[in-house]
Amino acid sequence: MSKILSEVLDANAVYAESFGDKANLALPPARQFAILTCMDARLDPAKYAGLSEGDAHVIRNAGGRASDDAIRSLVISHKLLGTQEWFVIHHTDCGMALFTDDIIRGLLRKSLDTAEIGAEGWKDVGHGPGATEGDFIDWLTFPDETSSVIVDVARVRNHPLVPSYIPIHGYVYDVKSGRLIEVPEATKIGAASP
Ligand SMILES: [Zn+2]
Repeated sequence: MSKILSEVLDANAVYAESFGDKANLALPPARQFAILTCMDARLDPAKYAGLSEGDAHVIRNAGGRASDDAIRSLVISHKLLGTQEWFVIHHTDCGMALFTDDIIRGLLRKSLDTAEIGAEGWKDVGHGPGATEGDFIDWLTFPDETSSVIVDVARVRNHPLVPSYIPIHGYVYDVKSGRLIEVPEATKIGAASP
């Protein structure tokens, strides 16, 4: 068993010991909201947004992007599970600003192993072969986290499966302070209309 696997299973055993009332939680989120945010390990939505088990949906992917799959989850979140208010939260120092489609496609063509970033950019240090399948993926990178929040709130707002009465709040999480900073243009675009 790997070290990580045994650590995770040990932590889970401790968690389950005091599971208590959580056995009775309902499936639909009690506080009726959803957050779309980045998978970055420094972000803990339960902590930065004050969530307990059963409170809210948290949808995460690289960048917190409003991909087709993120929208799939948001639509299920509202249509079947009753959330009424959504957040799109990107963050400072996001890894998605450190590469482009061309860069990751080129790296993957050479090797599937973890690449390294240095003063001259990304470099493959692993073994081949790589694969060209990365050429067919839109990696949804972005140059900065403010413009990406605006783009993503607008995409969700304008999606035909998203009702106009759901407010969509656009925020950037600051990894240096833990604060949520509003992106006013995004919130304006995401405002609900009756
Ligand atoms: Zn990120």
